Amino acid sequence: MQRYATFRHGVHPAEHKEATEGLPIERMRFVDEYILPLAQHIGAPSKCLVKVGQRVERGQMIAAAGGFISTSLHAPVTGTVSAIEMRPHPNGKLAESIILKTDRFDSQSSFKPVYEGADGSLPKKDAVHLVQSAGIVGLGGAAFPSHVKLSVPEGKTVRFLVLNGCECEPYLTCDHRVMLEHPRKVMRGLELIMDHLGAERAYIGVEVNKMDAIDALRAACTRGDIEVIPLTVKYPQGAEKALIDSVLKMAVPTGKLPLDIEIVVNNVGTAAAITDLVETGSPLIERVVTLTGPGIRRPANVMVPLGTPLRDVIEHCGGLTSDTRQLILGGPMMGMAQKSLDVPMTKGASGVLALTEPANNRAEDPCIRCGRCLEACPMFLNPSRIHFLVRAERAEQAKASHVMDCYECASCSFVCPSNIPLAQLMKIGKAMVRQL
Ligand code: SF4
Ligand code: SF4
Repeated sequence: MQRYATFRHGVHPAEHKEATEGLPIERMRFVDEYILPLAQHIGAPSKCLVKVGQRVERGQMIAAAGGFISTSLHAPVTGTVSAIEMRPHPNGKLAESIILKTDRFDSQSSFKPVYEGADGSLPKKDAVHLVQSAGIVGLGGAAFPSHVKLSVPEGKTVRFLVLNGCECEPYLTCDHRVMLEHPRKVMRGLELIMDHLGAERAYIGVEVNKMDAIDALRAACTRGDIEVIPLTVKYPQGAEKALIDSVLKMAVPTGKLPLDIEIVVNNVGTAAAITDLVETGSPLIERVVTLTGPGIRRPANVMVPLGTPLRDVIEHCGGLTSDTRQLILGGPMMGMAQKSLDVPMTKGASGVLALTEPANNRAEDPCIRCGRCLEACPMFLNPSRIHFLVRAERAEQAKASHVMDCYECASCSFVCPSNIPLAQLMKIGKAMVRQL
């Protein structure tokens, strides 16, 4: 059997990608109302630029970056600002949001470009500002503002660029479809980022359950300094540090970032969005979302305007089956369970998963010290020990046990026979340490 590159530890959840991996990306009709939270990326929320009653054009900036680690927000449709108010956010809280009422008489076929005179290349001088003003973030789920990764601080250099095409979360197939249907855009975006950073070589890591995408990317590759790397199907193959281990056999030291070892990682969807920006001037106003799971009547990969309410996206896919018990935004490992159908699709929304059996419906038992969580953790942590420390509120000791290295992949929770919510406890532990 052929062996492919991979990282150490990790888990093998069932893939469940068969329902949507063969389905081309489709578009949905424009709906009556769009909800744009000002906070839909990592960092400071965007600052609102519009007033109630104001008419806006599709693609127009409606909120500006609220700092360097922040980005702008654009109207997904031509219409009118009907309210600026608190609305349910996928993170479970209420968030200040711009509400747009769609102009039903507009065809919504054109948009206001954010990059006037786009000529297919990133401008040498203002590339960072341009990507920030286009509102582009990491589309793998984390929604980290992409311009920050294009901004290399004084004294730092980038040798390697790694593009993440793993899509290791079960059920999700949106990145797969983007790589398969738009390999040129992904490859062009990679070249643009690579040349901007001055990287020596670039790699695209793709799990081998997407061989058709690997073939498409290889066919679109015209440069000898770019390589497509087939990777073992294993979770969390797409986590930055795991991916760097798999592709380059390099380790990011504790408390450091990939840039500290001259590496930058981006998502394939982000690369495609940068190509759209430089070729058409388009800001980020839509993204591909996978709707799947046994509770979705018609699974699909859908190009969704940002801000579309969850209920409208589900309706586009025929609605939910009557036995649906749980809705998750994202994948089953790192996604967020949703209580309301009124939440909007944000920049980080890669999937909608409707389950007929809740992902976790067993009671918790005491830790039996079986060690499985240690064998699963890609960061070589001891989740069993850390969870005891967190529950005892021993933040100093949790810190000494490297809880801050946890990236909340939930591999430990997945394997725990006692059904202990280890990843949630790691998250709580990290919040405790931040308050020290
Ligand atoms: S997997 Fe669960 S039961 Fe086993 S050692 Fe870890 S926390 Fe304890
Ligand atoms: S401790 Fe953190 S990084 Fe390790 S398996 Fe659990 S969630 Fe993942």
